[in-house]
Amino acid sequence: MESAHLPSSANYIVVGGGTAGLVVASRLSEIPTVQVLVLEAGLDKTSDPQLQNPVLWSSLCGTDLDWQFKTVSQVSTRPYTATIDPESGLRSSADNQYRSLKKNRPNLQIVTGATVDRILLSNDAVSHEVLATGVQVRLADGKLTEIKATKEVILAAGAFQTPKLLELSGIGNKTILARHGITPIIDNPGVGENLQNHSMYVQPVGLKPQEGTLTAGLQALAFVRTGDEADLAAKHLSPTDPEKVTCDDILRNPEKASANFFVSTRPTNNVAILGVIQCHPLSRGSIHISSGTDDPDSKPEVDPRFYSNPVDIELMTRHL
Ligand SMILES: Cc1cc2nc3c(=O)[nH]c(=O)nc-3n(C[C@H](O)[C@H](O)[C@H](O)COP(=O)(O)OP(=O)(O)OC[C@H]3O[C@@H](n4cnc5c(N)ncnc54)[C@H](O)[C@@H]3O)c2cc1C
Repeated sequence: MESAHLPSSANYIVVGGGTAGLVVASRLSEIPTVQVLVLEAGLDKTSDPQLQNPVLWSSLCGTDLDWQFKTVSQVSTRPYTATIDPESGLRSSADNQYRSLKKNRPNLQIVTGATVDRILLSNDAVSHEVLATGVQVRLADGKLTEIKATKEVILAAGAFQTPKLLELSGIGNKTILARHGITPIIDNPGVGENLQNHSMYVQPVGLKPQEGTLTAGLQALAFVRTGDEADLAAKHLSPTDPEKVTCDDILRNPEKASANFFVSTRPTNNVAILGVIQCHPLSRGSIHISSGTDDPDSKPEVDPRFYSNPVDIELMTRHL
């Protein structure tokens, strides 16, 4: 991705150059007459081997390449899945796939080191609807600037930062906004709710010392069932619970897995990690701002409420 001179306007502004943002930007810019601008807060690290080598994912946690959000107090976890290019053996991501595509798209501009602090909203005189007309961007040197969107602002800032950006812009639960001195423009109590996250249980296991170096990375992965989970939804959920259908569909079907087991090793020590991840957790949490527009960098309050649904805790316990 490139760090470049910012235009004063674009037809479409995509906030966030992650997986979703780059896919949307790529498809939109197939129309040659449309100007697409992607604003990505992170710096261009596409050639960093730590990012390209999927085995090194855990070494990124807590670094500058990680937003370093922490959940409010509860079981701590790190979600992880790996998509690997079968030819190179390197991580396959939207980032490296779309970088090459961008070369042939003069109407697509991707700017890194550009953090969107706020969506600019205004009332349409004709429809009386609230319209997103642009964004306020902060560059790496702290300079603030506004960019107009003549068609749309597309939010793709990820599961944690999209609700944060909406709330900082005045869209969200008015009580939460008022707590942080933000004037509600659209009162929408659903913003930041229904957060769904996978928890992962990991158990380090010592291995017998051996000659040579262990091959690092995922050694085995299996999607499994306990065999006795079919009635768990009926036991814990009311017949009218909207999740019951999905839950039954997984837990009653012998062809479907309720968890994923893996064994992973690291090169430096004689330890293997045994891990269990529930496939479809039912617990729902929330993510909300922890301060107002005067401190847009403050970390949001992330509360996944892991194991708040009794199905999750019983299923995980049985798998363990
Ligand atoms: C450790 C880990 C490893 C993973 N490995 C894989 C894998 O190998 N394969 C796989 O398929 N999935 C993997 N996933 C899941 C995958 O990363 C997500 O499903 C996917 O990235 C979600 O895409 P997204 O576009 O919604 O969010 P993201 O990809 O997170 O993109 C959001 C982007 O918005 C930017 N942003 C946020 N706020 C702002 C702002 N205010 N202004 C400007 N930019 C902003 C962020 O920097 C980020 O680049 C992994 C997840 C984790 C946590």
